[in-house]
Amino acid sequence: MSFATQEDVFAVAEEVLSATFSEFSDKQVSPAPFRRITYKEAMLTYGSDKPDLRNPLVIKELSDLFVDSDFKPFCNKTVRGIRVPGMAKRSKTFFKSMEDFAVQEVGMKGLGYFKVEPGENGMFKYNGPIDKFLNDDQRKELATRCELQEGDVLYFIADTKKNAPKFAGQIRTEVAKRMNLIDESRFELCFIVDFPMYELDEETGKIIFTHNPFSMPGGGAATLDKAIRGELDPLTITAQQYDLVCNGIELSSGAVRNHDPEIMIKAFQLVRLGEDDVKKKFPAMYNAFCYGAPPHAGIAPGIDRMVMLLAGED
Ligand code: AMP
Repeated sequence: MSFATQEDVFAVAEEVLSATFSEFSDKQVSPAPFRRITYKEAMLTYGSDKPDLRNPLVIKELSDLFVDSDFKPFCNKTVRGIRVPGMAKRSKTFFKSMEDFAVQEVGMKGLGYFKVEPGENGMFKYNGPIDKFLNDDQRKELATRCELQEGDVLYFIADTKKNAPKFAGQIRTEVAKRMNLIDESRFELCFIVDFPMYELDEETGKIIFTHNPFSMPGGGAATLDKAIRGELDPLTITAQQYDLVCNGIELSSGAVRNHDPEIMIKAFQLVRLGEDDVKKKFPAMYNAFCYGAPPHAGIAPGIDRMVMLLAGED
């Protein structure tokens, strides 16, 4: 689409997908507008950039409570919590098998938890391997932040900044499956937006493009200039790139593309490529932009994945 914004593209996608899913299935389909969730929020709350919104469990950020913890695996780590209502009555075998899953399948070092039970003076008592590492302030704060209720279980996931969100996402999914929490009668659609434009290369530690170097960066040339001048961390720059996700499956991807040769050069400058490199590597695109390409945006639906979901296949 020419001269289109992200929202213009979303409006078309919503209309087509809502109608298609409603026409070819009896399941309840999210009405338009679909939820817009930033990449950052998706990674924190769902532990995935393809969240299954049929799963009611959410992940909470708890790291600040454990900065000085006596418990080494939590101390100064990224710590996340998942409240699971009604899970306290599950058997010892159930908890053991979840811990085995975390260690053997996910690669975690352990899977701490406590059950929320009635205590004295209307207070809760926490029963489980993590309680002995908590003080009363932490106990209170956990109750408030995670909205704990009697009969809940609170799972803890602690690891590096990079691993903890993904690990928490895998635990969220597995617990929901084992507790039968996924509502199979719904198609839950959402857009994931504001993907990071840049990331650090794991081996070299240098800045690289995350996905598509030709997406329009959020904030355009002004934001890139700030990063080039060292006034802004390039890792905070977002791309106008988006995914459409349904029931935990990425259905479509798209972007508002860059159309401006100056922005193209600035974007590549941050990954250490100069104007000559850009002209040499991408001559067709650079030249096309110089002739005055219109602002353009789009989305590419994965028809095979739509059919898969509609047919109830994996
Ligand atoms: P321990 O005192 O070593 O038995 O550990 C106490 C609890 O913490 C156990 O339930 C472990 O599974 C759990 N645990 C250990 N490391 C981690 C971790 N990195 N993330 C979450 N829980 C953990």
